[in-house]
Amino acid sequence: MNAIAIDGPAASGKSTVGYRVGRRLGFVFFDTGVMYRAVAWAVLEQGINSADDEAVGRLAEQLRIEVDAPASDLSDGRQATILVGQADVTWEIRSTRVDSIVSVVAANARVRRELTRKQRGVGLAYGSGAAGKAGVVMVGRDVGTVLLPEAPLKIYLQAPLEERARRRLRELVERGREADFNKILEDMRVRDRTDSHRAVAPLRPAEDAVQIQTLGLTVEEVVEQILALTTARLGVTPSSPDE
Ligand code: C5P
Repeated sequence: MNAIAIDGPAASGKSTVGYRVGRRLGFVFFDTGVMYRAVAWAVLEQGINSADDEAVGRLAEQLRIEVDAPASDLSDGRQATILVGQADVTWEIRSTRVDSIVSVVAANARVRRELTRKQRGVGLAYGSGAAGKAGVVMVGRDVGTVLLPEAPLKIYLQAPLEERARRRLRELVERGREADFNKILEDMRVRDRTDSHRAVAPLRPAEDAVQIQTLGLTVEEVVEQILALTTARLGVTPSSPDE
């Protein structure tokens, strides 16, 4: 199976690195966090209390979430287009409001059951080559442990909390958003704690994951490390960076 699982805490670089690894290999890139974010967005939109397990679970089961390749004329930096029903929520799911409730929504057992089923299906289809791509790079919190435990390469990215908060601040400023470092830091600390301590599929490295500490490394250095591991484990050779 041609599947690479990349897990790690918030802003550890999973999507930036995973997207580039996918491009170099001709694998589809799938960020599983966008689906939890889409449910959290809908919870806010419908005025549901995020602590109401019954209502949030029901919503997740009814919601139509679509993750598509971006239209070729779109150049706003998106890695994928996320639709909830007809609404394009690609950027709205990145708001600080969504950040502040998403890990509570993601701890809901019914939400996890629903999204896990869908995400594993996508991973298996692309990983087996049946869906017209050479493989899949899946990123999230539980890819190596729950979604695709059979992935031949599992990576766990780490970086200190302060460094991750600095990265998130930089991202928001680049997108022209107002942002406060201390608030980002505190929110991230809470989200890490909720993700790591929930009963179902908590964030943790799979036993056979390769752990990479990204502090002091450039994105390209991390990408090259993962590509070297991919060649060794999957026997797949990447294209050169500028292709
Ligand atoms: O990766 P990102 O920060 O966008 O993920 C948002 C939230 O979605 C995480 O904080 C986590 O609560 C949840 N998530 C999850 N399992 C995944 C991916 C994301 O629980 N596989």
